[in-house]
Amino acid sequence: MRIHLPNRRKLKKTLRRAIAKFSDILTIPLVKPAAIIVAALCALLILAPYLLMKFTPDTGQPEEGRKTQASFELVNPPKDITIYRTESKKTETLDFEDYVKGVVSGEMPASFHEEALKAQSVAARTYSTARILRAEKEGNPSAHPGAPLCDATHCQVYRSEAELRELKGDAWMKKDWKKICSAASQTEGQLLYYNGELVEQALFHSSSGGKTEDAEDVFAAAVPYLVSVESPYEENATHQNEENSYSIEELSKTLKAKHPSVSFGTITATNIKIISRSKGGRVEKMQVGNGALTGRQVREALNLPSANFTIDIKNGAVIFTSSGSGHGVGMSQYGADGMAKQGYDYKEILEHYYRGTEVF
Ligand SMILES: [Zn+2]
Repeated sequence: MRIHLPNRRKLKKTLRRAIAKFSDILTIPLVKPAAIIVAALCALLILAPYLLMKFTPDTGQPEEGRKTQASFELVNPPKDITIYRTESKKTETLDFEDYVKGVVSGEMPASFHEEALKAQSVAARTYSTARILRAEKEGNPSAHPGAPLCDATHCQVYRSEAELRELKGDAWMKKDWKKICSAASQTEGQLLYYNGELVEQALFHSSSGGKTEDAEDVFAAAVPYLVSVESPYEENATHQNEENSYSIEELSKTLKAKHPSVSFGTITATNIKIISRSKGGRVEKMQVGNGALTGRQVREALNLPSANFTIDIKNGAVIFTSSGSGHGVGMSQYGADGMAKQGYDYKEILEHYYRGTEVF
């Protein structure tokens, strides 16, 4: 097959004619300056992204969510962590981010919204980083002198990948474990700060019953970011309006056994009363016989899910109706899940429950 090649001379002629035509157009008033402006704009549009990339300082924080610059020095989370395993009674050293994933698995249901799992990851990472830093200065806790943290509720519940597989099965590992790992990875290295300092007590609890507590009312020490806030989206929480009933005899026996130093006298239907409540609605002080106990003492002695309770005494029995589960301080996990379902992201959730804090 013959390929038709255009005649070279003919091509030159056409080109010359086109240039002549273009020069003619340029002689029309205002066309020349307009063409120059258009050409300059085109050049700028092509060069702008390159120049921007070249002269913008590299922040060294490419992860999503770390774009905002802190005006203070950030804390580097540790690379490894040593924990005390309560079952084997041995210490174990593992990768810190793997530890965070194991804590989220141990502390929050995987069915929770991704943003709640991300909030839990940051809270768990912050809590353990603060504990490690404190242990470096003051030594490990007396409960486990070999490690700054243990794997149980005393610190934070941690489950290894192998333990989770054993406990939850392969289907859970395929879907839920992946979901938890992704939530933790998306917040990798991120910590919670208050006034430019690492948050020391990123406490959390299962559900508040509608309002969280001032740390002061539960643990006797005020912490500026652990103050009572509304927790309005807990409709899926467990232990809502839970009733626990005790005969007066049973109640009397249990409380006297747990608090031998209190002189209760004879406890009867007429001398069991709630005296005061905290800002978050938990029972602060209760009269029991001739003695007085805090709501927390009553809750712990009777194994009630929360100190957010009312009492009703009839037919020789005391009925405790409680809402929420846990101490009520810091982030409510069911509240976090509820907020996430309302469209709040993990930073908004954390900044709500830990007032005045920021995530970096
Ligand atoms: Zn511990």
